[in-house]
Amino acid sequence: MTATEPRVLTGLAASPGLAVGPARRMVPPPELPATEPAVDDAAAELERATKALDEVAESLEATAAQASGEAAGVLAAQAMMARDPSLRASVQRAVDAGRAAPWAVRIAVGQAQEMMRAAGGYLAERASDLEDLANRTIAKLLGVAMPGLPQPEDPDEAYVLFAGDLAPADTATLPVDKVLAIVTERGGPTGHSAIIARAAGIPAVVSCPGAADVADGETVIVRVQVGETAEVVRHPSEDEVQAAEQQRADLAARLAGSSGPGSTADGHRVQLLANVGSVDNLEAISGDSDAEGVGLFRTEVLFLDRAAAPTVDEQRDAYRKLLAALPGRDVVIRTLDAGSDKPLAFVQLGDEPNPALGVRGYRTASVQPQLLTDQLTAIASAAAETAANVRVMAPMISTPEEAAAFVEQARSHGLPSVGVMIEVPAAALRIDEIADVVDFVSIGTNDLAQYTFAADRQLGDVAHLLDPWQPGLLQLIARVAEALRRRDKPVSLCGEAAADPLLAPVLAGFGFTSLSMAPTAIPAVRAALRELTLEQCRERAERVLAASSPAEARAAAKS
Ligand code: PEP
Ligand code: MG
Repeated sequence: MTATEPRVLTGLAASPGLAVGPARRMVPPPELPATEPAVDDAAAELERATKALDEVAESLEATAAQASGEAAGVLAAQAMMARDPSLRASVQRAVDAGRAAPWAVRIAVGQAQEMMRAAGGYLAERASDLEDLANRTIAKLLGVAMPGLPQPEDPDEAYVLFAGDLAPADTATLPVDKVLAIVTERGGPTGHSAIIARAAGIPAVVSCPGAADVADGETVIVRVQVGETAEVVRHPSEDEVQAAEQQRADLAARLAGSSGPGSTADGHRVQLLANVGSVDNLEAISGDSDAEGVGLFRTEVLFLDRAAAPTVDEQRDAYRKLLAALPGRDVVIRTLDAGSDKPLAFVQLGDEPNPALGVRGYRTASVQPQLLTDQLTAIASAAAETAANVRVMAPMISTPEEAAAFVEQARSHGLPSVGVMIEVPAAALRIDEIADVVDFVSIGTNDLAQYTFAADRQLGDVAHLLDPWQPGLLQLIARVAEALRRRDKPVSLCGEAAADPLLAPVLAGFGFTSLSMAPTAIPAVRAALRELTLEQCRERAERVLAASSPAEARAAAKS
């Protein structure tokens, strides 16, 4: 650390918690040396390249076998590409033309990527996966460290992961038992890395200037309290380390004492539900977090790596797996939220200059209606075979007409409880008409903030506008909750804001009947709700609504 570098780095809070440990940096992709060595023995060079590709394929296959869901699919596809005979033939041609093995691999992969991009559609999207394959093979050939997640000398070492940003494949293979905290130079608090970190209960700071200067092996303290602090303390003193460790133990003890259904101090119920994106880790729902059910099942996550639309039978099997694990509990299944930041290869949307404003969420039903029909058929059939209380809702509803059409369609499949997500400001403004036709609503604050403030949820630079404590957003949220309260219909919040323990009593005061969040966030939210009566929550809510800035709103929630 130089004298001019700050000792405490500040970024954006993405996932709460406290961690102390050595920094470990993501390994950058290898660079080809400036001068290419001459090749004397082309056969030996080809053998070297082939061996490296074989080894990379084997290691990808081994990792794929241990991964699940989306990650397993991406890794298996990469391994298949490493073994692809046409890729190997291109490597051979380059070696025959006198190129050294690492350069030959670079050229062959470049050619394959060009062909995939020219083919368009699903293949074009997979072209970037080949980049990782090339980097790994070249690193092996050059004898330098493998790019990607750090591999500390001691494989049991737990560490604080430092990265520019995390790619989906990195986060999907993250060794969650080793990573104490995540610090990224870029990314927004509702972006991909943040959601994964929160789901795993790992503290995370994103968009952290100065993170690039932290050296591998340096000890750091990472302290994150959403809405309060998001800091990285470099070179902490022995006393600071001890104090942080004590604080961590106290926090863990306080949360361990919290279990059971969500309620205020005087017993007013606020259901605490889990956000789920896979059917693999269901124990996370019923384990330590003690979720009462599922408030948001992001079905599109099941099919992110699929080239063709899943059949009704496949979908029914996946939904049945989730529903069968939760008999008697509420499970809110969201229909496919494809498009924008969640492209699905089998949903053909054409070229869109602004995908976040294009055909996404419920709007995809207008271009591929069969997708929604099939999905509702599969959900209804899985619901009929299991004993969970199934509710279904559509994402990105913009008008009362869309809400009414979805309700009618879902009911025609025999689904008894049908709702919509409120993520578009126009829908919040017309909540009265929407509330009349639905059985419930759930607010997606990640998108509602994005569209209310015209601020990309994936961009750290505009994160201050995406702050859930922005008065403009809070007023919309309160308005929606009030419309549902007047009709005595359930109203939920399932965006990342639901995980903020300071906000939870305010939301209870607004009239929310449930909050849905990453399972790991539930204990802290439950503890915060239990500290206040409903009347105190309402008083706070009123004070917060009168605030004119996020800082004032937070201060009002504490008094
Ligand atoms: C949201 O927008 O708040 C939400 C819960 O949906 P997603 O994050 O999946 O878009
Ligand atoms: Mg959304």
